Amino acid sequence: MTSTIETTENLVAGLYREGAPVADTKAPAGPLQNRWEQRKFSARLVNPANRRKMSIIIVGTGLAGSSAAATLGEAGYNVSTFFYQDSPRRAHSIAAQGGINAAKNYKNDNDSVYRLFYDTVKGGDFRSRESNVYRLAEVSASIIDQAVAQGVPFAREYGGLLDNRSFGGVQVSRTFYARGQTGQQLLIGAYQALERQVAAGTVKTYARHEMLELIVVDGRARGIVARDMVTGEIQTHLADVVVLATGGYGNVYYLSTNAMGSNVTATWRAHRKGAYFGNPCYTQIHPTCIPVAGEYQSKLTLMSESLRNDGRIWVPKKAGDTRDPREIPEDERDYYLERIYPAFGNLVPRDIASRAAKYQCDDGKGVGPAVDGVRRGVYLDFKEAIERMGRAAVEAKYGNLFDMYQRITGEDPYQVPMRIYPAVHYTMGGLWVDYDLQSTIPGLFVTGEANFSDHGANRLGASALMQGLSDGYFVLPNTINDYLADAPFEKVPESHPEVVEAQQAVKERIRRFLSTNGTRSVDSFHKELGHIMWEYCGMERTEEGLRKAIDLIRTLREEFWRDVKVLGAADELNQALERAGRVADFIELGELMCIDALHRRESCGGHFRAESQTEDGEALRHDDEFAYVAAWEHGGPDGAPVLHKEDLKYEYVEMKQRSYK
Ligand SMILES: Cc1cc2nc3c(=O)[nH]c(=O)nc-3n(C[C@H](O)[C@H](O)[C@H](O)COP(=O)(O)OP(=O)(O)OC[C@H]3O[C@@H](n4cnc5c(N)ncnc54)[C@H](O)[C@@H]3O)c2cc1C
Repeated sequence: MTSTIETTENLVAGLYREGAPVADTKAPAGPLQNRWEQRKFSARLVNPANRRKMSIIIVGTGLAGSSAAATLGEAGYNVSTFFYQDSPRRAHSIAAQGGINAAKNYKNDNDSVYRLFYDTVKGGDFRSRESNVYRLAEVSASIIDQAVAQGVPFAREYGGLLDNRSFGGVQVSRTFYARGQTGQQLLIGAYQALERQVAAGTVKTYARHEMLELIVVDGRARGIVARDMVTGEIQTHLADVVVLATGGYGNVYYLSTNAMGSNVTATWRAHRKGAYFGNPCYTQIHPTCIPVAGEYQSKLTLMSESLRNDGRIWVPKKAGDTRDPREIPEDERDYYLERIYPAFGNLVPRDIASRAAKYQCDDGKGVGPAVDGVRRGVYLDFKEAIERMGRAAVEAKYGNLFDMYQRITGEDPYQVPMRIYPAVHYTMGGLWVDYDLQSTIPGLFVTGEANFSDHGANRLGASALMQGLSDGYFVLPNTINDYLADAPFEKVPESHPEVVEAQQAVKERIRRFLSTNGTRSVDSFHKELGHIMWEYCGMERTEEGLRKAIDLIRTLREEFWRDVKVLGAADELNQALERAGRVADFIELGELMCIDALHRRESCGGHFRAESQTEDGEALRHDDEFAYVAAWEHGGPDGAPVLHKEDLKYEYVEMKQRSYK
């Protein structure tokens, strides 16, 4: 193994300062298998009569938020939910295609809670917490029971048992699915549970409301400032506790598979108010997306990882081979994943499959139309699967995904192989939370993709839905009570200086956006930021590139505030204004991501530092130096972010170089 990273003193001088370590004080000790039980037992309770006196704000009604709101409403708390779509059913969670993992061992293929735990820790390249991951695996089976009880139509086998398929990074079949619409079906289940509480009067919903600021009073999160996106009214909402379930920030790259509205504003505003941001540079680039077609594209489309169960990935052996793929004989094809990783084949984890595709294209073996002179695509071929299973069986399993591909590309994947290329898909980073899912601001809890989550440096497929629903249905409802045992807290008047200050800050920001009257559209800034992030903080990162990116982003930020043009008014539906706020926050986040990526002078999972790789091009970790969560505090007195390290200890899994060969 080789590593060329030098431990240069003051490598990042001037970019950040190091603060005291941060500890997860809620994590129980003792045997791994007992920790969750132990924490549930030690957490203080709130009796049902007292719950009625307490109020909870939940921002976000995707899977993580809807499940939490429904469960806490059912428990008897007064819940208010906020979301920017017109219905909870339009949350980005609806896009999830492939499935949700659970350790049910229905296939009798040697699966277990322990194996799911092990696969997830290894898949995350040993950068997640053992206690959290074990809890996630333990709770996974209950999620499926909950969803089935709600009527979620998971695929079934002929005998009636729920069917399973495989996802990357594992050798068992533990992924439950509802065709290619798993997220949608799970969301309908969570949504109807939520609506039941709305009808019962425990949950109130605020559609088309965007949270623009967190209200912190006497050190505790006590509410939010939200904008009614239809009327423009700036409102204050106060409560005993605030939960953010606002999703991931992949759209910092402009082009991603995320919904167009997905953004970082809620978590970034909380970060600015004191919540630490965990591992911001950990981004997942998904290997199977429809390749970028040109400069004017604003969205990328995922082709579910489930397709790798039956599709085979290949490129022509000869660089620059532009023949119709059907005319390229078998012995002139390179099924490179099967060749390099015989044990896992096409189902290696996403980070590994993505980098492998990039290397093939960098070597000139990419396929499809060239963009900027380079063909960035590899084939995902179902010819053999169609011959083996028959077209009808392939259609039954993947039909809607094939239709989607055909509608977007105009090519029929039953006839010609799909073309795929990696794209930004998911963010493992997010607000730092303890075992109870509480951030560093007391009273601010964070669930789902919005927290820094249990996936370490790389998330395995079908585990985001598992984590969001685990947080919402099972974890938060058993930990938030420990905090609320001291509530209800003293009522905060709307005239409280902290409340007034938060409201004023929101109004002033809006005024600034609308009065700058520059020459450049918000989108042009977003696009430029995306280019910088993809180029220098994307699939491969270097010290030189990251330093350049930080300079470019600082210049872009200055230009944004000087030259942005936002049309329309504050007191009306104004999408340019909405986007301006989101892009301003993305620019600040982008800088922190690059600083985080620069400081982590190792490769792990999706964070690939070109200077730290093994001889055969795999990610090379430096456990002696970097086995920690990087929890970033917003700028200290000199404006530089402060790094707090949370050491990661492995008592049950041996930390070693990942191998999928
Ligand atoms: C194309 C695609 C396919 C995927 N497929 C799978 C899969 O098969 N299996 C899997 O496990 N994972 C999959 N994932 C990942 C998974 O879908 C997400 O990680 C997960 O759905 C996130 O859920 P969430 O509830 O945390 O956030 P979201 O679903 O993103 O919900 C965020 C919520 O927050 C609200 N919100 C955000 N900001 C604000 C604000 N400032 N004010 C008010 N409201 C706000 C939104 O309105 C929304 O209600 C996929 C992701 C993509 C992009």
